[in-house]
Amino acid sequence: MSLASPVLAGDISLGLPIDCELGNTCYIQNYVDADPSDTMADFTCGALSYDGHKGTDFALPTVKDLESNVHVLASAAGTVMATRDGMTDHRQRTAGAPDVSGVECGNGLVIDHGEGWTTQYCHMMQGSIRVQKGDHLDRGTSLGHVGLSGMTEFPHVHLVVRKDGKVIDPFSPEPATTCGETHTDTLWDIPIAYQSTGLLYVGIASGIPDYDDVKAGTAQAETLSIDSPNLVVFGFAFGGHGGDIMRLMLSGPNGTVANRDVTLDKNKAQYFNATGRKSSMDWPAGTYTAKVQIIRDSEIIETKAHQITVTP
Ligand SMILES: [Zn+2]
Repeated sequence: MSLASPVLAGDISLGLPIDCELGNTCYIQNYVDADPSDTMADFTCGALSYDGHKGTDFALPTVKDLESNVHVLASAAGTVMATRDGMTDHRQRTAGAPDVSGVECGNGLVIDHGEGWTTQYCHMMQGSIRVQKGDHLDRGTSLGHVGLSGMTEFPHVHLVVRKDGKVIDPFSPEPATTCGETHTDTLWDIPIAYQSTGLLYVGIASGIPDYDDVKAGTAQAETLSIDSPNLVVFGFAFGGHGGDIMRLMLSGPNGTVANRDVTLDKNKAQYFNATGRKSSMDWPAGTYTAKVQIIRDSEIIETKAHQITVTP
């Protein structure tokens, strides 16, 4: 019995590590890097990973969504091995970001599920961790809240699954010889659809927003009046492929205000576009609708809309 036994689906069954609705209130930004070389690929051969990424990133659309205190959940029953809390929630690569070398996981914890299986949860909200070393947890127990601590540029929980210390991709526990093979063996107890791209945030503003405000979730105007200097539609997306078109449309009581197709020049983990029109006289008061679409290979694969009332 000296040979490591293969990982089999059924060895452990995992539930979602986050209390949200995938494809609606949260999404998967990155999967485990399935490519052993110094390039990357997710388990479908897609681009939702980066070189050496060891976990799955379950993300919230914008930083503002942290205010909902989204719960991080134990993916399986087990015993807490270690926790860390007390690190600030601060987006890396922004002004004043703390040095997180050696503590890249941020606030987080590790659960031992027995038989060599462990799960690790990272980047949780400061002060939110509600379990302690030695606690026995049921599956689905709240561990704390999604945050922005450690080495992260967007709000998410980074889940690492390990067996005997070795990283396992829960979407593809048996490493495929070539990526893109059909994966029927998965550790998830319910099937999780692979979403290669999607719109995270669509809105209307009085000018072209800063990308930082878009990522923060604060770019959307709360109110707009008929003397707004511009009316602008913006869209924020993940998983862009070179050649994808983002179609931005803004219409009001008198019909089209602005329309623009923007073609993505290369793959991008996240990106945003905006277009609009300057006012020449007061805008007609009433309801304005922003509609943004992602078009890939001539097919509309995602649509998101937002409405605002322009007041006299
Ligand atoms: Zn990650």
